[in-house]
Amino acid sequence: GPVPKPLIAGNWKMNGMRGSLAQIKEIATSKMLASGKFDALICVPATLLHSAALMTADTPLKIGAQDCHDRENGAYTGDISAGMIADSLGSHVIIGHSERRTRYREDDALVRSKTIAAYKSGLIAVVCIGETEEERSSGRTLDVLRYQLAGSLPDGATGENTVIAYEPVWAIGTGRTASIADIAEAHRFIRSELCKRFNSEGDCMRILYGGSVKPSNADEILHVENVDGALVGGASLTANDFLSICSAY
Ligand code: PEP
Repeated sequence: GPVPKPLIAGNWKMNGMRGSLAQIKEIATSKMLASGKFDALICVPATLLHSAALMTADTPLKIGAQDCHDRENGAYTGDISAGMIADSLGSHVIIGHSERRTRYREDDALVRSKTIAAYKSGLIAVVCIGETEEERSSGRTLDVLRYQLAGSLPDGATGENTVIAYEPVWAIGTGRTASIADIAEAHRFIRSELCKRFNSEGDCMRILYGGSVKPSNADEILHVENVDGALVGGASLTANDFLSICSAY
């Protein structure tokens, strides 16, 4: 099928104050993004969402959030809705990051419901899946990925509204990346599951790899078949590292 345009997405997590907007500006105005060979996205903390989105409005860089509630509004102190992200001019939202699945016990059903909320507000959902170390060592990786995809993706998922991020939990923030063969196997499997359920639309969905992607390993990882980009944590915090990862394209 058609190969989707790659996406390099940054996840700032709970990092970044107003001064960090200088990094956003540097990324947004870099010549590399102007090439149009790939799309670029930074998912900032909610406090920076609107200012980052305004700052990048006339640039190729997209700005997103890191989570949303599944309801449109109500008595959910501290949470933000997908509509609020759209209102702040964010275009994407990460849903079901392993840090939220683990620390806040978010399950596949909640991830699906948040993803539907994202669609209703016109956001692109970056839906995260990935096995734990224990699941991998007991040979259950592909089963886990199958169940997470089936439970987390709504029927309305398309290549336009959904990006999949495959992030082995043990590779996030640890400096350990999956082997090239393991990445290739997982991404091939995810593609085949997507095509089974969504037919040709499955070929249009981007499948990002995430887990300790950095300038020194990006080139190799980003050229694996069915790897349509990366979700980058630590190495997305400076324009220098982020752009050096982008230079793989
Ligand atoms: C992430 O948070 O999605 C991630 C992959 O983090 P890191 O790149 O720091 O491992």
